[in-house]
Amino acid sequence: MNAPFDYAHPFLTGDVKKLFIGGEWVDASSGETFDCIDPSRGLAAIKVSRGGPEDIDRAVAAARAAFEGEWSKWTPFDRQALMLKAAEAIDRRFEDLARLETIDMGAPLARTGLFRRWIQQTFRYYASQAMNTRGDIFSNSVPGNFMAYSHKAPVGVVGAIIPWNGPMITQLWSICPTLATGCTLVLKPAEEAPLSTLMMAEILHEAGVPAGVINVVPGPGPTAGAALAGHMDVNKINFTGSTVTGRKIIEASASNMKRVAVELGGKSPDIVFADADLDAAATGAAMACFTNTGQVCFAGTRLFVERSIYDDFVERVAEVGRKLKVGPALSEESQLGPLASQAQLDRVTSYFQVAREDGARLVTGGEPLDIGGGFFVPPTVYAGVTNDMRIAREEIFGPVLAAIPFDTEEEALALANDTIYGLGGGVWSRDVGRVHRVAHAIRTGMVWTNCYGVTDPAVTFIGTRQSGYGVKGGPYAVDEFLAAKTVWMNLA
Ligand code: ADP
Repeated sequence: MNAPFDYAHPFLTGDVKKLFIGGEWVDASSGETFDCIDPSRGLAAIKVSRGGPEDIDRAVAAARAAFEGEWSKWTPFDRQALMLKAAEAIDRRFEDLARLETIDMGAPLARTGLFRRWIQQTFRYYASQAMNTRGDIFSNSVPGNFMAYSHKAPVGVVGAIIPWNGPMITQLWSICPTLATGCTLVLKPAEEAPLSTLMMAEILHEAGVPAGVINVVPGPGPTAGAALAGHMDVNKINFTGSTVTGRKIIEASASNMKRVAVELGGKSPDIVFADADLDAAATGAAMACFTNTGQVCFAGTRLFVERSIYDDFVERVAEVGRKLKVGPALSEESQLGPLASQAQLDRVTSYFQVAREDGARLVTGGEPLDIGGGFFVPPTVYAGVTNDMRIAREEIFGPVLAAIPFDTEEEALALANDTIYGLGGGVWSRDVGRVHRVAHAIRTGMVWTNCYGVTDPAVTFIGTRQSGYGVKGGPYAVDEFLAAKTVWMNLA
């Protein structure tokens, strides 16, 4: 059954969306295509060329040629000007871009439409970074007739392997530092959601990004992705995705010792003390988990609640979830869309079964929703969860919240840190000392206090433990795209 929405879109023209290599739209070497599925209907939106290892080779060759060609003569000022022009070009086509992402991966317009400002800020932030890279001079610390300085140069050809849960914005963590530093890029989007990355390549090309600087090769992870991660002529991989795949990427990167940054999965704790502003905390804790239908790497999926308020607070969080409008992503009314794929629907519903078997108490949700053939599940809350249950240990990547009671601050921290992951975390309390104590003691790369999930392109985004390593965003991200060389001078 088709939802009654207009699926006509200026980018969804022709029979097949092709690969973008060396400034041209080309078929996959194999001639193969795959269906790009709209998760709100479970139907194909368009076919996309299926890139494979040969196409990755072509794209890396194009990126290498661009890196060593005219692009290397662009000054930081030139690249800054290009990025500002590109930002304007994206802004002019933003509504089409957001709508395409909505059709492709199912985030509702209410979400994708919000990213206009984020995209603009990211391009402008990195445009300023283009003018602000510099090395060090070691003039005082070196004895004798010598001095040394470090010279920073772009690291070379970068491979980006990105996931399907928000490619419109995730890709900027690779595109913007590439343009700011003078690197070149081969982007491999996920098969589930390649369209906004292809459209971004078109916009950037039209805005003047030279051929070969940004290349896009959609294709399967185990073939196209693996070829990029192991490629002998790629200097760095920027990966965002699951911990299991991240481990494979790190292993593949050993082929030529390329640099790697991996931003991986999480099972982030959100700790609510009885003295918190409970209205704010209930909404905050619900949205920490349910935003983007739970498909967020730093989602707060383990909710630790002080026992004296546990039953009442968990019910308040569930009530926020019940009121969220789940529906087709193109509907202006929808606050949450479908999960991004059939595979994701199967995965999330399998955890409903796991939760039942492990004896968790269902408070709300827990069954798929039958809406027009799409991959829909409701916000789901389980109470009576213990930290050893699978729903408290494994990343589900759906709107499934596991609520766990605690008695003391020490116990909350011990439970929060009892995980392999270390991406996000939250603490809700009016006690300022406790807020900072707990924020420092949670073993994650990021902690939100009396809020959750705020991000900004100018602020460091980072994980630790098995949530990965490497900085995305903020003042240190650009350094990851630069190689430092030490030059010694004999002053005699
Ligand atoms: P999920 O399992 O949720 O799809 P992944 O981490 O596997 O998450 O996917 C993130 C990205 O990694 C996608 O672009 C996917 O195609 C890619 N990918 C998957 N497997 C591999 C692999 N073995 N090597 C390189 N990339 C991969």
